[in-house]
Amino acid sequence: MTKHATSANQGGFVSLVGAGPGDPDLLTVKALRLIQKAEVVLYDRLVSEEIMELVNPQAERIYVGKRLNLHCVPQDQINQVLVNKARENKHVVRLKGGDPFMFGRGGEELEKLAAEAIPYEVVPGITAAAGCTAYAGIPLTHRDHAQSVHFITGHLKREGMEVDWSGFAKGNTTLVFYMGLKESPNIQAKLMDNGLDGDTPIAIIERGTTVNQRVLTGTLSTLSEIAMQAISPSLIVVGSVTSLHKQLSWLDN
Ligand code: SAH
Repeated sequence: MTKHATSANQGGFVSLVGAGPGDPDLLTVKALRLIQKAEVVLYDRLVSEEIMELVNPQAERIYVGKRLNLHCVPQDQINQVLVNKARENKHVVRLKGGDPFMFGRGGEELEKLAAEAIPYEVVPGITAAAGCTAYAGIPLTHRDHAQSVHFITGHLKREGMEVDWSGFAKGNTTLVFYMGLKESPNIQAKLMDNGLDGDTPIAIIERGTTVNQRVLTGTLSTLSEIAMQAISPSLIVVGSVTSLHKQLSWLDN
């Protein structure tokens, strides 16, 4: 049962589905079942080709990928396509990298669906922070290293927001920055200005969980230099847990 089912939109339905960080084996059973029977799939740049190969071959595929400063399809247009396809009484799967509610604008899409009384469901996915660190042998928390974790967007400036950097610049916490490569000089400066030691270990996990995963390690004082060697998508992890990568890594990278 879904909250917004009405007679006006009979069979139309949207599943907002997290596709995980890349490795198709990290799809949930529910996500796999849904993409195999979807009639329409709207998908992002972060959804890997291997995952798209699992989609119902008869489904209409609509690419709505976005890149920083190069919006392929504006968000309101994506919202409208979801509504239109559902109004055609289609089962629409909106497939997003990682988890749809983690820096994925899933909430905005649902607001539109709710406003238009389109029924929907949400299927969580493994977010990059969980998937990439697991495949890199970096525990997000550890009794000897970190008692909390922050998930932070690197797009702070672009989104016209500031955060309380002093709250992040603490020793016993792990910081995970999404979309942080371009902003890495600012991240480095803000954390150090607020008192985080330049020797704090960091890791950059590039294309995590895929066969191309690469893990670059260093310290906070060299973060922006290391970031220049990385390509998108990459996750920046700051904190002493990253020093465990060499010891706990179970993949060759
Ligand atoms: N909803 C997604 C995040 C979307 S924001 C999730 O839950 O994972 C996009 C950012 O996620 C990228 O810029 C990168 O920082 C991170 N990301 C996503 N997939 C990644 C991967 N396979 N490897 C490294 N970083 C990844």
